[in-house]
Amino acid sequence: MQRVSDLAGAIKEIGFACTGCGGCCTGDEEQSRVIISPDEIGEILEATAMGRNDIAAPYPEFIDANDGRRFTFAWCLRMKDERCIFLSPDKRCSIYQVRPWICRTYPFMLEGGELVISDCPGLGGDITEADARSLATALLKREEAEEREEQVIRKIFSESSIPAGETVVFDSQGMWSIHG
Ligand code: SF4
Repeated sequence: MQRVSDLAGAIKEIGFACTGCGGCCTGDEEQSRVIISPDEIGEILEATAMGRNDIAAPYPEFIDANDGRRFTFAWCLRMKDERCIFLSPDKRCSIYQVRPWICRTYPFMLEGGELVISDCPGLGGDITEADARSLATALLKREEAEEREEQVIRKIFSESSIPAGETVVFDSQGMWSIHG
């Protein structure tokens, strides 16, 4: 696949080797926010036996409508004291096998099909061709999952009616009422 090869080539040239600093899992909540899809929430719930409310918080940028209606379009991993709740004291991800796409592909993302790179001390590190290719494949799968999620949310949003006074989250599984 040409796109995987091109992306893998770009990643190989940029270079990346995770230093394990935990920087992408800590810090200001706005900058370190990890958006998660319902599928990702489901996988984490299965792996941890935690409650949905323990791991996911509504994306905090709410849109105000009339009659006290408020809505937002995503969930985020919960943080505590500016750390992801799944970051262990020794800076390991305690849900590594089921970590979300954002974590799997950091510090890279695709925006409008273009490779975008976040700040990370691991940039410039040695990466094998196989690892660059697997990162490129993950980026494309993430893009596909995000596009699918967005399309379904658009449909659900256009067909839903938010009850007066309610605050809700829309995701690809429906409209969730929340309090506060
Ligand atoms: S899920 Fe794991 S990799 Fe992702 S922010 Fe939390 S600790 Fe870091």
